[in-house]
Amino acid sequence: MSFDNLGLSDKVLQAVHAVGYTEPTPIQAAAIPHVLAGRDVLGLAQTGTGKTASFTLPMLTLLERGRARARMPRTLILEPTRELAAQVEDNFSGYGANHKLTVALLIGGISFDEQDKKLTRGADVLIATPGRLLDHFERGRLLLTGVEVLVIDEADRMLDMGFIPDIERIVSLITATRKPQTLLFSATMPKEIATLAAKFMTNPERVEV
Ligand code: AMP
Repeated sequence: MSFDNLGLSDKVLQAVHAVGYTEPTPIQAAAIPHVLAGRDVLGLAQTGTGKTASFTLPMLTLLERGRARARMPRTLILEPTRELAAQVEDNFSGYGANHKLTVALLIGGISFDEQDKKLTRGADVLIATPGRLLDHFERGRLLLTGVEVLVIDEADRMLDMGFIPDIERIVSLITATRKPQTLLFSATMPKEIATLAAKFMTNPERVEV
């Protein structure tokens, strides 16, 4: 199996080769074509399986298509912890080295005002923990109606940490105008997550590794 036949853009493939990956992991091979086809994806995968690239690589390809509306983020990645969010940002910046994209990391523990300034200048991609994202929203500096692709990562950990009401709120803010393509990843599928997926996702492709 090679990365070349998955439908990723040349820019993304160059970045993948530059970081030294030779072949996709099973979750990448299974998920990437569905994400590129615009499908909702329910991914059952643990950390360490390469799941971050399974959503970030096709997202980068999708971002090359179409155009941002002024200052509106087009993709939102939700993570349960600051550490995971920072790690995903790190990966995203590496894979997106050939893309002129602005990424804003919205997490606790770093200056709210710096993040706010970045949002005001305009960010294409938001990588956030739910609480901090909602703090920015409450201040009226964030419009979520331009989000085309939403990733809910580590959904079972979100549940353990009590973030489901925040996620529901965030999804309702985005879907005020249209339903985004939704990718949900979880290591396990407790009843509450299955319910959430059934509520927010349309005919999702289920990929499991
Ligand atoms: P993740 O499950 O997304 O946290 O990724 C686990 C680790 O695997 C990270 O250190 C990635 O850099 C690495 N990785 C992801 N995809 C590949 C791949 N196709 N080939 C080799 N390493 C990879």
